[in-house]
Amino acid sequence: MPLVSMRQLLDEAAKGGYGVGAFNVNDMEQIQAIMGAAVETNSPVVIQASRGARQFAQDRYLYHLILAAAELHPEIPLAMHLDHGNSFETCKSAIELGFTSVMMDGSLKPDGKTPSTFEENVEVTRKVVDFAHERGITVEGEIGVLGGVEDGHGAGGSGLDHVTDPDQAVEFAERTGVDALAIAIGTSHGAYKFTKKPDGSVLKMDILIAIHKHLPKTHLVMHGSSSVPKDLQDIINKYGGNLKPTWGVPVEEIQLGIRNGVRKINVDTDNRLAITGAIRKVFAETPEKFDPRDYLKPAREAMQKVVAERMTQFGQAGHAADYAPLGIDAIIEGYKSGKLDTRPSKTK
Ligand SMILES: [Zn+2]
Repeated sequence: MPLVSMRQLLDEAAKGGYGVGAFNVNDMEQIQAIMGAAVETNSPVVIQASRGARQFAQDRYLYHLILAAAELHPEIPLAMHLDHGNSFETCKSAIELGFTSVMMDGSLKPDGKTPSTFEENVEVTRKVVDFAHERGITVEGEIGVLGGVEDGHGAGGSGLDHVTDPDQAVEFAERTGVDALAIAIGTSHGAYKFTKKPDGSVLKMDILIAIHKHLPKTHLVMHGSSSVPKDLQDIINKYGGNLKPTWGVPVEEIQLGIRNGVRKINVDTDNRLAITGAIRKVFAETPEKFDPRDYLKPAREAMQKVVAERMTQFGQAGHAADYAPLGIDAIIEGYKSGKLDTRPSKTK
């Protein structure tokens, strides 16, 4: 199966009432872990690379590794997505490389740190949408600013500093025509999201629900949605690590989101924790070992276990064979004819 349009993947998820995990990768083992989990649970999946990942691994390595995954597993619908593009040029380069989906995070200026104005965000996102849709490529935008920093990207600070305003989200969707929209409801990137189990005072699920009511056709995206489970933290700390106590987004809250229009859930930290815990365990228990395979194999297995668990929790498990992937020409035609138009004024 060739790479699939993320738009189709998310439209199908909306029809089926489930969410799709979007997992970040930097290397071959992470891609293999994700595909292992997708095969195990029969799930469609989004594999995404951030700018940091593209720098770490180099674009062409990642692109060809993900293509290899698609070739080896033709039964799995797989979209290749750019996470947090910081400019039109970054998104354009990903599209030209062969990504089937890009995120234009215009909530920040191109430095990836300073919050932008609403008008700047609309302008750059609209430009990316025009370029991408002509080529059948999906676009995710962001309105409101997430907390924390990951891979050098982020405004820092609390997830509550720039929570999304529902009216602005509607205007943004109308003026940009994005396929998917990341919203800020109190979540942060990285491991240190919350200092206690989050409740309604920090995780603004009511805002998410209000936005979905006004934008039924725009797929909502939850970023910074690792659950940061205590058992994964404990393994790291047991084998010499030093993580401070921290809380992520509870899976039940993500499931509430999925019942209210969330179709893409970004998970990175949980996989990082699983990998690091598995490697630390090998180093601590068998310090005589030095073959990288001795620790990369358990690391890959630990990540696969977490990914498979999320796929089941998000509901995408069992849905890989529900539909045949549309060719790029059909997607281009869908955008041209207005069939794939998500703007609220066109879908009423
Ligand atoms: Zn993010």
